Amino acid sequence: MNIILLGAPGAGKGTQASKIASKYNLLHISTGDIFRANIKGGTEIGKLAKSYIDAGKLVPDEVTCKIVEDRLTWDDAKSGYMLDGFPRNLYQAQELDKFAKIDLCLNINVDEALLMDRICGRRVCSCGESYHVSTLNGATTCAKCGNELYQRADDNPETVKARLDTYNTQTAPLIDYYEKQGKLACVTSGEGSPDEVFEQIKKILG
Ligand code: ADP
Ligand code: ZN
Repeated sequence: MNIILLGAPGAGKGTQASKIASKYNLLHISTGDIFRANIKGGTEIGKLAKSYIDAGKLVPDEVTCKIVEDRLTWDDAKSGYMLDGFPRNLYQAQELDKFAKIDLCLNINVDEALLMDRICGRRVCSCGESYHVSTLNGATTCAKCGNELYQRADDNPETVKARLDTYNTQTAPLIDYYEKQGKLACVTSGEGSPDEVFEQIKKILG
């Protein structure tokens, strides 16, 4: 099964992706993670991506589509994957249809008023876990692996505003796109706890 995770920044795509990956044995492909790894590694792609990411804009389509198309040819993608953060606009969705067969688009809907606090309070670990300061009780290390937590460079109010704007103008229209393809499934109360949201997802995935 090949799935797309759709939702605004802070909707919980990454959190749910790890849960889905372990229960359903699907490969988790996050374009945001790929770009961040490239930035850390100082690659050409990383250098290019950084300026867009810092501004809350989309990295150019040609670069992003190529990365995903290549990644889907790896052996580990053969038995099913989850795309997190791709596609993010209509062009990317149309390109994806040319090189992949998508079965389902899971749209995680969250009240927009919550997103700013969720993202600005987010602390992440290099292992992929993420937390919110309100539940950390002052802890600064990851409960899963013990590594030091940090805040993503783009998780600041100014960039988040731009990311939400990018989402509303460019990504939200994809809900309609997948609805028309008969592939859309909506997680309606994404405001719940990660476990509550995952319960809904399990019902959808069966
Ligand atoms: P979030 O969903 O919380 O905004 P991501 O890690 O998915 O975080 O993305 C971070 C940034 O990486 C985006 O703001 C954008 O600049 C870039 N990016 C990620 N995926 C794409 C994509 N499919 N197309 C273009 N840019 C992307
Ligand atoms: Zn960790």
